[in-house]
Amino acid sequence: MASSWTRRDFLVGSGAALAAVQALDHLHPCCAMAADAPTAASELFELKPVADGIYAAIAAPRYKVNCNAAVILTNDGVVVVDSHSKPSAALALYREIQSITKQPIKRVINTHFHWDHWQGNQVYMEAYPGLEIISSERTLENLTRPDAGNGGIPNVDVQRKALPKEIEQLGNQLASATDAAEKLRLESNLRQTEAYLKELEQFKPALPTRTFDKTVSVVVGAREIQILLLGRGHTDGDVFIHLPKEKVVATGDALIDWMPFMNDGFPEDWVRTLDALEKYDFTHIIPGHGGVLPKGQLAFFRGYMSDLVAAVKSAHAEGASLEEMKRGLPDRLAAKYEQGMSKHPLGRYRDRIGGNIEIAYQKVVGKA
Ligand SMILES: [Zn+2]
Ligand SMILES: [Zn+2]
Repeated sequence: MASSWTRRDFLVGSGAALAAVQALDHLHPCCAMAADAPTAASELFELKPVADGIYAAIAAPRYKVNCNAAVILTNDGVVVVDSHSKPSAALALYREIQSITKQPIKRVINTHFHWDHWQGNQVYMEAYPGLEIISSERTLENLTRPDAGNGGIPNVDVQRKALPKEIEQLGNQLASATDAAEKLRLESNLRQTEAYLKELEQFKPALPTRTFDKTVSVVVGAREIQILLLGRGHTDGDVFIHLPKEKVVATGDALIDWMPFMNDGFPEDWVRTLDALEKYDFTHIIPGHGGVLPKGQLAFFRGYMSDLVAAVKSAHAEGASLEEMKRGLPDRLAAKYEQGMSKHPLGRYRDRIGGNIEIAYQKVVGKA
């Protein structure tokens, strides 16, 4: 493995991995079901204009998932919010950004520490060594803490160790699959996982260089960018990126167009944090996953979180066990939430409701 890569080596290396991933795009059955399939199928990202000079980079569905990014053009360089799960994905977006502006990328903001939001940082750092990487102070701590959860430098090692087993299992499943579509899906997942492991073997962490412990407003070029710290939610270090003039907010995974991932979250705080976000003036949400959303989606997503917490609390008070909750609550909450939480091929209601109930149970009624 190269210990010190030149920028050219790096781009070539990442480009090879990217080509390997993209070559499989047409085989990936999940993409055919994507809400945005017509334009996203052949690219990892679709750049959608949201306001003047503000773009949402909407990630195509992948087995090794990528987050969305927000791309903010200013007359003092480009600001990119979140950098995906791997250098090849960040490189793909970097190239797309270059097709709309030749301005350098001067700032990357990481909304939180999860693997699928920061592992591409190094691409921007390699391309622009003076790059500023911004996060909350807590996110920087989480990126180096061994017990932080689903992200950070220690978690890269956890993934490296786990991936060979995952590759073996996918290979076994592929060998015994008989259905043609299932074979294609498994083959694509296997190749994505192999390519991902190769990338992680050459991974060089690029950590935040500037952190905040409270809400700040920064002026970049002529644009005001507010970095909001509103409390715990999806993690204990979430930031929201608010553009007050353009009325846009980028939310990371604290508000997404999928079912929430709650394992490193704080369900009751999360509701209050979203209350605080709602007080800001915005019309468009660029979420960490899924499509661009209107402000009204905040109430829907928060409603799910608060109804989930309330349902688990009342079931617990009535003496229900976790298993009983997992059997009864999904259907009870489905009328209100199943359709709206199943718009995309990933992160659907029935995929995640059981896990969400379990996490809410552990964190809210304190039963491990
Ligand atoms: Zn994410
Ligand atoms: Zn996350």
